[in-house]
Amino acid sequence: MALEIYAYQCKKCGQLHYPFRMVCKKCGNLEPFEFNTVALPKNGKLLTFTTVHNLPPDFNVAKLSLGIVELENGMRITGQLKVPSPKIGMAVSGKVEIVREAEYSKNFGMVFYPA
Ligand SMILES: [Zn+2]
Repeated sequence: MALEIYAYQCKKCGQLHYPFRMVCKKCGNLEPFEFNTVALPKNGKLLTFTTVHNLPPDFNVAKLSLGIVELENGMRITGQLKVPSPKIGMAVSGKVEIVREAEYSKNFGMVFYPA
């Protein structure tokens, strides 16, 4: 089964939020249980990116690229970039993978590849 990252959709006005917010940014709906979860699209366009060379010691890679991607539904998400030579505006395709692993915890996040 493919892993998903979810956006939160206001049950009153339909506005999508990612990451989770306690208050709807469009209609001000304050009820935390008044949101439906909706899987984020995986494909999008690379808006900008950077490469981090000084990572914390528990990362087992020398450097890491991070990108901000505008997904097909217009939402923006930060994710790891596994693209050999990234270019602004290029099409990318995401997968939900483990992005950081400590002894007892695994953190999942979006990892983008060339589309
Ligand atoms: Zn709302």
